[in-house]
Order: sequence, then C-alpha cells, then structure tokens
Amino acid sequence: DSRGPIDDLRRKLAPEGNVVSAAGRRKTIEVFGEPLSPVEVVDRICEDVRSRGLEAVLEYTAKLDGAQLTAETLRVSPDELETAHRAADPDFLAMIRRIRDRLLRFQTAILHKDVRVEIEGGGYLRQRYLPLSRAGLCVPGGAAAYPSTVLMTAVPAQAAGVPELAVVAPPTKFGSYNTDLLATCHELGVTEVYRMGGAQAVAALAYGCEGVPKVDKIVGPGNLFVALAKRRVFGEVGIDSIAGPSEVIVVADASTPPAYAAADLIAQAEHSPGSAVLLTWHEPLIHQVAAELDKQLATLERSDLTRQSLESFGALITVRDREHAAQLCDELATEHLHIACEDPEGLLDQVRCAGAVFLGPFAPVPVGDYSAGPSHVLPTGATATFANGLSSNDFLRSNSVIAFTEATLATQADDIVRLANVEGLTGHARTVTIRKGTTDGHR
Ligand code: NAD
Repeated sequence: DSRGPIDDLRRKLAPEGNVVSAAGRRKTIEVFGEPLSPVEVVDRICEDVRSRGLEAVLEYTAKLDGAQLTAETLRVSPDELETAHRAADPDFLAMIRRIRDRLLRFQTAILHKDVRVEIEGGGYLRQRYLPLSRAGLCVPGGAAAYPSTVLMTAVPAQAAGVPELAVVAPPTKFGSYNTDLLATCHELGVTEVYRMGGAQAVAALAYGCEGVPKVDKIVGPGNLFVALAKRRVFGEVGIDSIAGPSEVIVVADASTPPAYAAADLIAQAEHSPGSAVLLTWHEPLIHQVAAELDKQLATLERSDLTRQSLESFGALITVRDREHAAQLCDELATEHLHIACEDPEGLLDQVRCAGAVFLGPFAPVPVGDYSAGPSHVLPTGATATFANGLSSNDFLRSNSVIAFTEATLATQADDIVRLANVEGLTGHARTVTIRKGTTDGHR
C-alpha cells in the first residue's frame, strides 16, 4: 500500500519512466561527433531534414543505417513490391489475408458513426467523421521484421477509409529489404513504401521532402529515436501515441496453470527489453511459475536475452487479494493486462487503465499481437492513464455541423448576445441582432 512497492513496480514496468522523459538527461550518443542526449540528436536530425529535405534524409540513412540510397532507391519500386509478392509463400499470403479480414471486421465495427441531433423548432446539429487524407505508418526494422505491424497499422487506416498510406521502414534486412514485409504491403494494397527509419523518416513524413509528400498523421511503433521524433513533430502533424518497450502484467490465481503464466511472461520479456510482472494472491504459484520459467527458458531460441530481460524488468509478486491486484493494475496502467484468474470479467470491472486487456486462459497476449482484431500498437510506460491503443478511429477527424432555422436562432439569440456582451465581443453579438432586424450592436 505504501508508495515504495508501487514505485518499484513502476520502475520494473517502465525502467526509464515514460520512455521519452528520461531521454533528455542521458548524454551518450555520439552521432554528431560530440556527446548529446537522444533528445538533442533527434532535434538536430529533424531540423536538418526540415531545412535540407531529401539530401539530409539520404545522409542520415547512410550514417545511421549504412545504406547508400538515392532519390530513386529511397522509395521501393512497384516492381520490387510485385516481385516480393510473387516470390512469397502462398500460405503466408493466405494467412495475411485471413488476419486482414479479422482486423478489418473489428476495426470497421468500432468506427465512430455520424451523429445527428434534430432541434425542436427546426435545424439540426451533427458530428460527422471523415478519414484523414494521408497517413504515415512507421514499421520498425532494427532488430526484427514486423509484417504484423504493417497489418496492425494499415488495416485500421483502411477501415477508416484513408486513401493514401505511406509506410516507412529502415533499409535493413528486417525492414524495407525484408521480402515478407514488402509482400505484406503489396497484399494489403499499400504501394508507397520508403526505405528510411528513425528520426529522419518521421521528419520526412512530417515536413515532406522531394519525393515524399507530407502526411497528416504519423502512427506506429519504433525505438526511442522514433518515439522522440514523433513527439518533436507533433503539431506539424498528428501522432498516435508515444510507445516504448513492451510490458505485461499477468494476474493469476490457483486456477491458472503455472506453465501458461510462465509462457505469457516469457513472451513479453522476449521483446528484450520487455517487462513482465506476475501478480497473484495464491502464494504457491510464485514458486511454481519460477520453476516453469527456468524449464521453458531452457528451450527458448532467444533465451539469453529473455532471461536478462526477466532479471532486469521482471517480477513475481504476491498481493493480498483480488482487490489489491486490481488496485495495482490500475495504478500501473500497463500496456498489456492479462487477467488469467477465475472470474476475469469481475476483475476487469475493477480496473480502468490498461492498453489492452486479455481475459481468461485462452487469450494469451500474442492473439492481440498477431491476429484477433484490435491493433497491437499500444500505450506503454503508464501512458495508458491518458492514451489509447491505435484504432481505426485514430484515422478519422470529425467536424461539428450546425444548421439553424430563423426560429431556432430566435430561441437562442438572447443567450448569445448576453454572453458575447459579457465577453466584450460586440461584433459577435451583432451577427445575431442583425438577423433579428435590429442593428443595435452596442446593446
Ligand atoms: P526502429 O526500426 O524503430 O528504428 C531503427 C532506426 O533507429 C534506425 O533506422 C536509425 O535511423 C535509428 N537509430 C538507431 N540508433 C540511432 C542513434 N544512435 N542515433 C540516431 N538514430 C538512431 O528500431 P528497432 O530497433 O527495430 O526498434 C523497434 C521497437 O519497436 C522495439 O522496441 C520493439 O519492441 C518495438 N515494437 C513495438 C511494437 C508495438 O506495437 N508496440 C511493434 C513492433 C515493435
């Protein structure tokens, strides 16, 4: 109950605090030949891309990714996309289509609907939703390839009806030289793919440069440099949220198979870094899960990295009861919350803050990562207290629409004139009085 354990846990889940908040303090990055913090590095890259455009993008791509590109090779050609698609395993493409269909069904179902409220006396009020014209989708490619991220960003945008999508992925074997990634883009009808990553890609999308038209909004995950650049360009364009290293809380009890709980913790720690915390009020489970972790790590491909991640950012914690678990979950506002205990819905009712919630023994987090329907782009580092996971609604804008009749204006005229006069805005008042046939602008 004291602040101590909660702060300790928060450090486990978000070791640097909110991923961006600590980044201004560290001064270790020598990209510019002098020690700068990641924030300073990103500021310089963004400013440079803003003022020098494509030339700067190509220079940073050479410097940071070791790829010598030109204005022509920066964009993946239609031929390259088609070739990757033709060479792809048909089963892989069929799987992409199946996942696309599941995502599309959910993302379409949750879209905000237009609302129209009729006004007694005539006229109406309306909230109408329209898709953005052009969105930039960040697909990471530094440490692993993520065709899943193409699905989880492009399909929500398509559900919203965004006509132009530009994917950026670093020029690496895991990024825009990855044939599975290119085949996925082609299968989904995404034709604009650029070989750039990090802050330079975010800046190019935000400000536009030769061959890369500016977008309205930039979404998708990435490393610290991508996250900081998104924060930097916000205002120039929209962004979804600032996502950091992945995290999970698994809430378990005597009914939870220890092997399942251990597998679920490992799956998150495997992101390396990834934080994984077990909360249980059934004390024997702690030892059972610890034994299972050892057993399962022995046969895992990325076992060394995963073990390190668990040692640094993992915890097995006994809580008093379900209420205590719910209270901690709410305070920690984790990216993924897996409620794996009995009566998961009952516990869900007690928790308000989480990026995505997984209920029961048969909804491990990877169903959300890969196939179910909601996007896997989720708020991390306790930002779930104010941020949402990416969805089709992030690709909509709304307008309010006001249609009045003369009679309706008459019913509200006095209120408008009085409030405008209180604020000293007599010109505002006059727009109403003039329509009533009175030109008393000084009233
Ligand atoms: P990335 O593709 O996001 O970024 C790579 C780029 O970072 C490089 O192209 C380079 O330009 C830039 N960069 C690297 N070092 C730099 C330096 N010192 N100075 C300036 N720029 C530098 O990278 P990644 O490593 O693949 O990271 C992706 C992250 O996204 C991981 O943490 C992963 O777990 C996460 N992820 C999250 C989700 C999600 O939906 N939440 C999905 C996939 C991946």
